[in-house]
Amino acid sequence: MRLNPHLVAMPGDYLFAEVARRVQAYAPSAPRPIIRLGIGDVTQPLAPAITQAMVEAAQEMGTPEGFHGYPPDQGYPFLQQAIIDADYAPLGVRLELDEVFVTDGAKTDTSALPELLAADARIGVTDPVYPAYIDANAMAGRLGRHEGGAWSALTILPCRAENDFVPELPAQPVDMLYLCYPNNPTGTVLTREQLTRFVRYAQDTGTLILFDAAYKAYITDPAIPRSIYEIEGADQVAVECCSFSKSAGFTGTRCAYTIIPKALKARIDGQSVSLNALWRRRVACRQNGVSYPIQRAAAAALSPQGQRQVAAQVQTYMDNAHHMVATLQGAGLQVFGGVHAPYVWLRIPGQRSSWEFFDHLLHQAQVVGTPGSGFGQAGEGYLRLTAFNTAANTREALERVLAVL
Ligand code: PLP
Repeated sequence: MRLNPHLVAMPGDYLFAEVARRVQAYAPSAPRPIIRLGIGDVTQPLAPAITQAMVEAAQEMGTPEGFHGYPPDQGYPFLQQAIIDADYAPLGVRLELDEVFVTDGAKTDTSALPELLAADARIGVTDPVYPAYIDANAMAGRLGRHEGGAWSALTILPCRAENDFVPELPAQPVDMLYLCYPNNPTGTVLTREQLTRFVRYAQDTGTLILFDAAYKAYITDPAIPRSIYEIEGADQVAVECCSFSKSAGFTGTRCAYTIIPKALKARIDGQSVSLNALWRRRVACRQNGVSYPIQRAAAAALSPQGQRQVAAQVQTYMDNAHHMVATLQGAGLQVFGGVHAPYVWLRIPGQRSSWEFFDHLLHQAQVVGTPGSGFGQAGEGYLRLTAFNTAANTREALERVLAVL
């Protein structure tokens, strides 16, 4: 048996596994309950419109006329249409049904989409970054060697307070550039002008942009783009990954979607190839889709009633985020994000490293954050706090944090 050497050579544990390990090791001796503002998992129960649709669909499946076997590879048309009507038409973005690919998660697709590219395609990411992008490409052998905490063949676009968390354009050519806005982990956004600059760069250089809009539901200002397709020409250079996880509480339910416009083409051996057709071919052989009750539940989240219910949930999380930002800033700390995203990016006061500060908060305040350095070298000196806990826990966590600073 010859193992995948790239998988074998992967460094350390996945970030959240290491966070969980440290929390578990400490928990038995903790003097009071630990409050978790670490992993970005939602906490509110599914909205009634969603569970009702799920139950009805499950019951339908138990009848001869309502039984559904394998779903269509790209998703049921009722969900594709609901996505187009609820998420894109209001932005003035026109899409056709077969440009929408329903999938079980944005993690699945952001990790798998590089399969569109050559085995040795060059990848670019912002730093700090959602770790799944890097891990997926490292396992596929695209990132070279891991030395001194960096991948030899990965292009990194650092985002720090010093550049207002706005990445520079890549200094060397890349085949695919991951952009995630609103950003996990920093909670920051790109303006329309800043995103346009990336679209123009991609047009000029033939770069594919993978735009991860998993947090678009948290944008409060219509001037901030919710979709990259709000930028003219983006349909020729970008795929977009979205998820019901953070917008409708589907982290445990699993449903997401990817947009691949038919205008998106690339040349190989003098031939123009549609990335939409290529992905459709790949999806048909790799997956059997998302179950009928879950797709019905996702469509219900996009119904007028569902949208009102999930918007109220998002607002609850954003109230937490605003409380965190106001409290930490009031204490004289430097914080970023938390305005159009459920993440607050705290600049660690003093000289502590991200992991030292993580341990300090865990042991002294019994509060769990996520060390910024776990998201990349430019995250060193920062800690990510999530707004996904209850209002009461969030308030108490903040009091505890301020008490030990
Ligand atoms: N993309 C980003 C930026 C995320 O932060 C996450 C989850 O935390 C995901 C994708 C995963 O989404 P899903 O639950 O749809 O797999």
